Formats: sequence, structure tokens, C-alpha cells
Amino acid sequence: MILNIKVIILKKLVINRKEKKVEKNLVAVGLTVDRFKGITPSALIKVVKKLGLEFVELTISVFDDLESCRDNIGNMKTGFHLPNLHDTGFDFSCKKMDEKIQQLIRLINDNYQALNVKYCLAHPPEDDSGADIEETISYLLENLKKLEPSIIIENIQSWDENRFQNFYDQAKLVLGDKLIGLCFDAPHHILSGGDPVDFINNSNGEIRCIHLSDCEEGFDAHMPFGSGGCLPVDEILKTIKKVDYNGFINLELLPRSQEDILLIIKSYLKVVKTFDKKKYFASLFRLFLFKSKLEKTLKNVL
Ligand SMILES: [Zn+2]
Repeated sequence: MILNIKVIILKKLVINRKEKKVEKNLVAVGLTVDRFKGITPSALIKVVKKLGLEFVELTISVFDDLESCRDNIGNMKTGFHLPNLHDTGFDFSCKKMDEKIQQLIRLINDNYQALNVKYCLAHPPEDDSGADIEETISYLLENLKKLEPSIIIENIQSWDENRFQNFYDQAKLVLGDKLIGLCFDAPHHILSGGDPVDFINNSNGEIRCIHLSDCEEGFDAHMPFGSGGCLPVDEILKTIKKVDYNGFINLELLPRSQEDILLIIKSYLKVVKTFDKKKYFASLFRLFLFKSKLEKTLKNVL
């Protein structure tokens, strides 16, 4: 009898440990892969794979380098950040760019499986100058509806929480299950006057991706952590862990110099260390092995 109870307790412990192990690996930490100076997206994919990343967020630049990206993506999961006004000069709400948008929708639908794209990420319409905003929103949502991958929508700095929530609810009505959640961009939230720690604490499981980067007062600078900006990164990471967040964390960091590359890697390691100590030490080891090759690659372009 006692032996039976012991066996049952032991079995329960083993199951609990297994369950915990499954839970632990549900945060995937990645970086945005874009064309950077002379480096192609596929070359960057090769670099981050060597560092042990399992997730990256791609941009439109992947289609200038498609074959090589497809060949190198392997098992890495990806998200696809749709063009936004600030970086690309248009987004999926710009009707005057209809031909380009429809062409891009076809390209995404033809290639998302080969590129292992798990979601397409859209901003609310950012160019509402002159046009009827409701018309602009419905044009954007019709375009998102045509995409085959799932959709997530990201908060932007020029819209406060209420305005974003109204748009999100409207998108849910049009897109239904295709809309799988929101991307919470912490610096955007700060710049729109919100508190990211409060938002994450009060989130109701709708967050599927979190964007992090250090920002300046009033400017979305996309800096690595510790650059003297106003992102309370330690508090944010602590809160993400506390609420048992499961999903993607993407670091939207813009390198400006060779020193920045090191800071970007440090930022990545800081997040990995928060969620997976084993992966953190494995990444340090990979970095040690790969450091000189990485420095050589970067020397040629910086
Ligand atoms: Zn973002």
C-alpha cells in the first residue's frame, strides 16, 4: 500500500517535471532580420542561426533575396512584418499603392510556408491624411483578409490604448480567427503615454508577440538595451515572466556601429537568460566559438 502511494507520488512528480519542461520552452526570442548595409537578409539568417536563434522577424527585404533565405531558414520560425509607413513609405492601407500591395500579397501567399512564417504583422493605418479613415481601415482589413498566414496587429505610438482597442475589435469582426492576437510594442506604448508594465500585467492572453527596444524620450530609436533610453527593460522582463507569457519576443534593434552589434547580442542574451538559463549558457558557448568569424563578417561592412 505504502509502496503504491510512493509510486503514484513519484509518477506525479515525473509528470509535473515534464509539464514544467514543456511550459519553459514556449517563449521564443528573436531579432528582426532586414537588409543591413551590405549584408543580405540570408547572410544575417546564417549568422543568427549560428548564435542559436530559433525565431526571426522578416521584412519585405526577404523578397530581394528569396531563394537564399528559403534555403537557409531551416527549422527557424519566422514572423513577417508587413511594410509600414515609417520604414517602407507605404503600408497595406495605402490605396495608391494597390498594385504593389496585391503583388506582395501573392508573394507572401506563395512563399510563407517555405519561409516558415507563423504570422504576418500589421500596424493600424498610419497615413490618415486627407482620406476617409473608415474607408482606409476597410481597405487595409480587406488586404489582410487575402493573406493566407495568420495575422497579428501591433500598437503604434500615435494611437492611444482606446483607439487601438477599437481598431483591434473592428479587425476581429472582419478577420475572425485569422486574427490570432496582438503584438505589444513596449516602446510604442511608452511613446503613446502608457505604462508597459501595467499593460502586460492586465493583458488577457491576447498578446502573441512582444517587441522590445530601448527608446528615447519622444523618439522610437530602436536602440539595444542599456543605451541610456527610457525602456524599463528589467521590470518588463520580470513582468513577462510573472504573467507566464507564452509567445514570441522580438528585439527590434537597429545597429548603427560595430559596438551596437555587440550590444544587440547582449540584449538578446539578457532576454534568453530571463526565460531559459540552459539556452543562455549554450548561446554564450556558441558566441565564444563563433566570435572571430562574426567580427570578420562585420568588419567588411561597417
Ligand atoms: Zn514594433
